[in-house]
Amino acid sequence: SPLLKLDSVGKTYASGSVEVHAVHQVSLSVMPGELVALMGPSGCGKSTLLSVSGGLLRPDSGTVTVGGVSLYDLAGARFHEHRRRSLGFVFQDFNLMRTLTAVENVMLVDELDGMPRKRARQRALAALRSVGLDDVAERYPGELSGGQQQRVAIARALTGSPRLVLADEPTGALDSANTRSVLGLLGEIVAAGGACLVATHDPEVAAAAHRVVQMLDGVLTEGRAAAVGEARR
Ligand code: ADP
Ligand code: ADP
Repeated sequence: SPLLKLDSVGKTYASGSVEVHAVHQVSLSVMPGELVALMGPSGCGKSTLLSVSGGLLRPDSGTVTVGGVSLYDLAGARFHEHRRRSLGFVFQDFNLMRTLTAVENVMLVDELDGMPRKRARQRALAALRSVGLDDVAERYPGELSGGQQQRVAIARALTGSPRLVLADEPTGALDSANTRSVLGLLGEIVAAGGACLVATHDPEVAAAAHRVVQMLDGVLTEGRAAAVGEARR
């Protein structure tokens, strides 16, 4: 069964007197083992769709099912707990706190969640190890390359071992070598039975995806099959 299922999801923004239908009647399923690239021009609704999928933005209509549970039907603490356990979110601009070290950044979610500091630190170090960054755990974001910062952000998204990872332009700020390293990590998640939905403009990401869905003016148009095979790593 799908790790992410969107049924007729809609989200409209009121911008002054104008309504923007950022996402309109979108239905999409992402299965275990699938890396799906979400493509389309700037402003077509990709970020909005990811935010709605990740529990960051409540849709106006439709249902969002994560790991078999209708996310927005959960209330309060159960909503937050399910979101935290079921999915990880990777932001384009990394969203790291400049005044915290890499390991402190990764620990933050667990700590805010009430986990004892020592245990949170162990989990964070394990997550950093999984992205090959345990040696820079005590450095601040400003002391890391863009690629390393994005891997810290991915480690943070992976701390709870979520099966679903949502990523908004995760390679937008990265060179080709770092892009491949991030793609390798996403590939490992799906190889382990997880699922990834990645908003991207990057042809390298599209080439590595199992499926590409195109978005235009808030609507999903026919997906084209990705060139699976030689382009996949
Ligand atoms: P993309 O990620 O594909 O660039 P977005 O989801 O960011 O697309 O935006 C989709 C549309 O919704 C755009 O027209 C954008 O201007 C509009 N939009 C996004 N966020 C807001 C907001 N908070 N308030 C008003 N309009 C927004
Ligand atoms: P991207 O295209 O990389 O997804 P944007 O630059 O469109 O990002 O948007 C950055 C942030 O600004 C997002 O949180 C989005 O919701 C918000 N945003 C985008 N368009 C508008 C808008 N017209 N009015 C208010 N907020 C917006």
